[in-house]
Amino acid sequence: MRKVVNYFRSLLLWELFCGLALTGKYLFARKITVQYPDEKTPMSNRFRGLHALRRYPNGEERCIACKLCEAVCPALAITIESEQRADGTRRTTRYDIDLTKCIFCGFCEESCPVDSIVETRVFEYHGEQRGDLYMTKDKLLAVGDKFEKQIAEDRARDARYR
Ligand code: SF4
Ligand code: SF4
Repeated sequence: MRKVVNYFRSLLLWELFCGLALTGKYLFARKITVQYPDEKTPMSNRFRGLHALRRYPNGEERCIACKLCEAVCPALAITIESEQRADGTRRTTRYDIDLTKCIFCGFCEESCPVDSIVETRVFEYHGEQRGDLYMTKDKLLAVGDKFEKQIAEDRARDARYR
């Protein structure tokens, strides 16, 4: 009996019509495909993208070289060296993040007591040469300077829900 049913099904192109019916069902449904990069989906203010080091409004680096971020990083992607300044404050002389090791867990920004190391919304970046994804202190500060307005807005929005 089963063979007979299958025979008539194949004869009447039953599966083809089932497939076309499914296609027809979605033909006029709301389109969910986003035409990236012309269109973009909404993004959380907690998005964990490219790292940045922030400064205070007077231009002073926020980072106090406590090395909490380096200690907490599960990927061992952060390398910090520091020294004491003449005024007694401690600052980093080296702050590197190897993005090829980073797993973007966000532990570094969670651990920072002065909101210095943060992850921005920037995700459209790439490296073409060896070392391009090795973020030095200068590069991280430059990202922070460039996106400070957005970073500050995102942090302020976060604070409202705490
Ligand atoms: S996001 Fe996670 S893995 Fe990446 S540097 Fe920060 S702590 Fe390390
Ligand atoms: S970025 Fe923050 S957690 Fe890391 S060393 Fe500087 S102050 Fe400490």
